[in-house]
Amino acid sequence: MVADTEKGFFIDLSRCDACRGCQVACEQWHNQGTIPTKQTGNNQNPPDLNYECYKVVRFEEKVYNNKFEWLFFPEQCRHCFDAPCQAQADLEVEGAIITDPATGIVIYTEKTKELDFEAVREACPYNIPRQDPKTKLISKCDLCFDRVQNNMVPACVQTCHSGCMNYGSYKEMLALANKRLEEVKKDYPQAVLGNPDAVHIIYLFPFPPHDYYEYAVADSGEDSSQTSFA
Ligand code: SF4
Ligand code: SF4
Repeated sequence: MVADTEKGFFIDLSRCDACRGCQVACEQWHNQGTIPTKQTGNNQNPPDLNYECYKVVRFEEKVYNNKFEWLFFPEQCRHCFDAPCQAQADLEVEGAIITDPATGIVIYTEKTKELDFEAVREACPYNIPRQDPKTKLISKCDLCFDRVQNNMVPACVQTCHSGCMNYGSYKEMLALANKRLEEVKKDYPQAVLGNPDAVHIIYLFPFPPHDYYEYAVADSGEDSSQTSFA
């Protein structure tokens, strides 16, 4: 049973134009540094999430029915219901990873440096957690918990200009996701929502989720994403 106070995102990938404003806004709000990277042949940079980067816009090039498509995927923690990373952490250090009961936001604390990082990362169906090799702290998107507590919109949503990022109560976001799914299916019949009944961050994928990224939805294969109707 999801409480009315629980927060959520609806990320409409049919509207993402890969400006990367969300990625930059996230890094600025969290006063994160940059880790030197190399050009890897496309616009994706950094090439992966890292302990200083909680959100990365992934780029994939695909061809469907002889038509080229560029798939953009602004990736972040899904703030899972009954978060598997927290269940793993609780086996080692109680309280290292917690879920705020009011909002459902999954928070990594200072105690994460006492955890087995590989076990936490493997527990995450979306391959999200990253570790600072010096401090051993494990990090990820905190859903801008400080902003949310002060009734502010998360930084990445605040900056999004295209209508891709949406924020509100989980219930509102699920309703919006289902409404947009109906609309988007007219142009993209295979569109689906990614695990909408298991996470607070709901993506709408116009194309098969695993074409965006191998960990885009939990489990493997097309059956893991769900088409959900209110
Ligand atoms: Fe934890 Fe991964 Fe779920 Fe985020 S997406 S709450 S890191 S299990
Ligand atoms: Fe970054 Fe906040 Fe967006 Fe999470 S919610 S990706 S921490 S800006």
